[in-house]
Amino acid sequence: MKRIALFPGSFDPFTKGHHDIVFRGLSIFDEIIIALGNNSAKNRYFDLEMMKSKIEGLYIDQSQVKVIIYNELTANLARKLNANFLLRGLRNTTDFEYENSIAQVNKSINGDLESVFLITSPEYAAISSSIIREVHKYQGDVSHLLPYSLD
Ligand code: ADP
Repeated sequence: MKRIALFPGSFDPFTKGHHDIVFRGLSIFDEIIIALGNNSAKNRYFDLEMMKSKIEGLYIDQSQVKVIIYNELTANLARKLNANFLLRGLRNTTDFEYENSIAQVNKSINGDLESVFLITSPEYAAISSSIIREVHKYQGDVSHLLPYSLD
């Protein structure tokens, strides 16, 4: 059976840390679907379609990586896409606390879904989308934190 992993997130923006998780995930899974959550309750900072095409551009030569936008329960989406694995990154204990509760809920909704966590590479552990948004808002340079160019 094909090992398909869903990598869900806000990716507002998609960072070098996320890119590292996908890249490393490729040695474990046959296919990785990066799913950008279109959560209407959360106001995005970076445009969703723009972010989707930036991510697609990164993996143009990797046919095992797909990028989609979604607006539903992650666990249900995984079932629909035949993805038996949820890929997530872990930076620190705060991530762990949060990921632990999401993983329990997801498992209760979709019993076939196994969450798989990759520990962040140390060089990317301090990168967070929220800090990038803050720096960008005040015209700071964030280019070294992103795996693509914003312009
Ligand atoms: P969410 O809003 O669902 O937390 P994010 O886009 O912030 O979505 O993150 C998606 C996933 O990537 C999460 O599992 C998060 O822990 C992980 N992640 C975020 N930043 C990094 C990083 N610098 N290195 C590795 N993983 C990360």
